[in-house]
Amino acid sequence: MKKSRYLTACAGWMLVLPGVIRNCGWFGAVEKSFPTRERELLLTIDDGPDPRQTPQILDTLAKARVRAVFFVIGKKVEDHPALCRRMVEEGHSVQNHTYSHSSATFWSAGPRRAAEEITRCSAAIQKATGRMPVHFRAPVGMANPFVHLTAESCALKIIGWSATGHDGIAHDPARVVRRIRRSTTPGGIILLHESHLRGMREGERACTLSELLNTLKADGYIFTDRLDARSA
Ligand SMILES: [Zn+2]
Repeated sequence: MKKSRYLTACAGWMLVLPGVIRNCGWFGAVEKSFPTRERELLLTIDDGPDPRQTPQILDTLAKARVRAVFFVIGKKVEDHPALCRRMVEEGHSVQNHTYSHSSATFWSAGPRRAAEEITRCSAAIQKATGRMPVHFRAPVGMANPFVHLTAESCALKIIGWSATGHDGIAHDPARVVRRIRRSTTPGGIILLHESHLRGMREGERACTLSELLNTLKADGYIFTDRLDARSA
């Protein structure tokens, strides 16, 4: 292979790789944890709002007196604005997780698509809640250089995670809690989902959340919304 073609191929991979590596920080900061001396955690919940799961999740959080950061999908916000308003009214934070959450293709988004996905979601959140988001999470954590540039120009900090139960796919509560507990450390950012999957019963996500909160509280952890407070 000629040297110039080899270099072009390398440059291409340099652009593509950050888009397919989760929480990759090559082209900009991705916060996956926060500094603390306490046994503090930040709870983030992605892919809502959903009328079959979100109300019970909000009930569970209220009962446990825990505040969460919801990374919502703009299209779903337009469909269920009242659920987004309820999140804010109950002290939670509502942040940007793209307009359509095209997880299979978003890693390859060019500048125009990245801008459209991010700005449309922020506009939907502002219309529903009256608040502009300050944080962004890419679908499945894959943010290419164009996504980083767009987020920066929209004054959005990119947030990743340090512990997930992979509950976007397998959602057995015990397994999800076990996986998260294994990778939980102080200052960790926990990722859960509130999307309704096929075969899932109404309110099932709240059962996982409740079990997780009980387990981590028994381990001596407390939940904070300080990541949001630091950026406010
Ligand atoms: Zn997602």
